Formats: sequence, C-alpha cells, structure tokens
Amino acid sequence: MAMTDYITTFSSAMRNRFGERVHKVAIDAGFTCPNIDGSKGRGGCTFCNNVSFSPHGRESRGVAEQIESGRKVIRKRTGAMKYIAYFQAYTNTYADPVALDKMYREALAEPDVVGLSIGTRPDCVPDAVLDLLAGYRDEGYEIWLELGLQSSFDETLDKVNRLHYFHEYEQAVAGAQQRELQLCTHLIAGLPGEGAAHYSETMDRVLELGTDGFKFHPLHVVKGTMLANEWRRGEFTPMMQQEYVEVVANWIDQAPTEMVYHRLTATASEDILLTPAWCSKKWKVLNAIEKELAWRRVKRQQAAMGFASMLVDRSCGSEVRVA
Ligand code: SF4
Repeated sequence: MAMTDYITTFSSAMRNRFGERVHKVAIDAGFTCPNIDGSKGRGGCTFCNNVSFSPHGRESRGVAEQIESGRKVIRKRTGAMKYIAYFQAYTNTYADPVALDKMYREALAEPDVVGLSIGTRPDCVPDAVLDLLAGYRDEGYEIWLELGLQSSFDETLDKVNRLHYFHEYEQAVAGAQQRELQLCTHLIAGLPGEGAAHYSETMDRVLELGTDGFKFHPLHVVKGTMLANEWRRGEFTPMMQQEYVEVVANWIDQAPTEMVYHRLTATASEDILLTPAWCSKKWKVLNAIEKELAWRRVKRQQAAMGFASMLVDRSCGSEVRVA
C-alpha cells in the first residue's frame, strides 16, 4: 500500500489533472513579511527563522533562473516534466499588484510551468491580488492560494506572535471563494497551549468555511528564534512523533475524502534544528502516518464486519457475536 491508497496527495491530484507527474519548484522571489519589516511587527512569528526558507541565504537569482535550475534538479530526481512555480519564502503577495503580476508572469512564461502556488498570510490577500490569481486561472493555469492559518484560536496566534487573527482568514477565504480559487490551508500541530480539542475545533472551523487542501506541520524549534529561547527556559515542550502522527490522522479522518494534501509533515535541516530530532527525518514520519492510516482502516473494516455479523446473528435469534 502507498499513501495514495488512503488520501489524495498533491502529486496524485496533479497526475489526475495533467496525466503525468507535476512537481512544485520552490522560489524565493525576494519578498519580506509585514511581521518582520515593521509594518505590523518586527521579529516575526516566534517559530520563524527565515534561514529555514533559504538555507543557503537569500536568493539573488531572478524567478526564471531559479525555475530553470530547480527544474533541472527535479527532472533528474523525479522525471517530472511539468512544474508548478511555488512562491514559498516569506509572504508572497506582499507587494504592489503590478510588481506581483510581473513576477508571477515571469514564472508562467517558463516552459513547462503549468501553474502557480502562492504561499501567504491571511491578512495579505487584497482583492487586487485575488483578481490577479483568478485571471491566471481563467487562462487555464493551475492556481493554488496557500494560506498560513496555523491555528483558528486567536489566543494561540497571539502566543506565537502571528499578528493576524482568525477573522482575517475568514475574509481571505470568502474572497478566494467568490473567485472560485483553490485554497490550501496550512495548520501547525503542537503550538503552545494547544491539545486535541484545539486541533479538532480548528479543523471543524476550517472545514465549515471550506478549503480544497491542507499542508500540515509539526511545530519544531530552530536556531535563532524566540521559540528556541522559550524551549531553553523550559517554557515549551515539543510533541512526540507518535502524538503528531495521531493528530494528522485525526485531521485526515475529519476531512472529506476529496481533500488534497500538499504536505503531511515538515522538516528542518539538522544544522538549524534544535528539537524534536524526529523532525529531521521526513520519510520516517510519513511512513508512520501511513501506518497509522492503514491501522485505522483495518480497525474500521473489522468494526464494520463485526457489526454486520452481529446483525446476521441477531436475525437468527442468537445473542452471540460471531466476528
Ligand atoms: S508570517 Fe511567515 S514569514 Fe512572516 S514571520 Fe511568520 S512565519 Fe515568518
């Protein structure tokens, strides 16, 4: 069995649409973030070390050049011949719409780029940006808006200094849905003060508003962050791997089957990761999630079979459960 036996991954959704493998190419287009440049705050979210976006420093190359070199590596590694330009680093809608259009168009003009995935904060998607994205979609491109919500609880968002709130996510979702844009919602498990009830409530609220996909992350501690100081002072304890696996499996169980999963875990390179160590082993975590999903399916099948057997047995007048 494979992960795709249990969920629709982003790559399987793209294969269904394009009939072949389509891979994201990550781009650092030189954006900053309103939570860093002082327009909303300085210092950023407590867990954000911007180095983790670009381990080799900020990109000096332009969008087309990054796609060209990313494409070469991905083609060699995976054989993919089509690409989604993934504007990943920082807040990728945080600029004047004319400048944004120029950057996004530069990506779309590259050979074999079939669409865009734009990662941003919920408070940075004005109508003009949504209109741009809807325009590319109307031209036939595959367009995803990735919104970093992380938690639906404002008090949690405060604790990690997000400087945006759930109502801003609601507004961004409404704007995207008016234009029928595809949405991918980012959630983090393990945020300070959160537990099973928070995770379940956040998923309920997100599903009630509607989304088309998810990206899940465990909260890990990396060097150079406020969270690292909290962890050193003993004020923050990261999740164990099995806890994270169960949260992800619960989220998947809560969501409708047509949901598209862009990512089920996140890693940080060993040179900046402080804790938990399991966050540096992406495949181990993914295998554990797959195993958990498989086990839950067997349990459900056994329960259904047991229930059916009880019905048959009762119809014969017996009280004995036969399976
Ligand atoms: S919104 Fe994103 S880029 Fe900005 S500080 Fe937070 S994690 Fe970093």
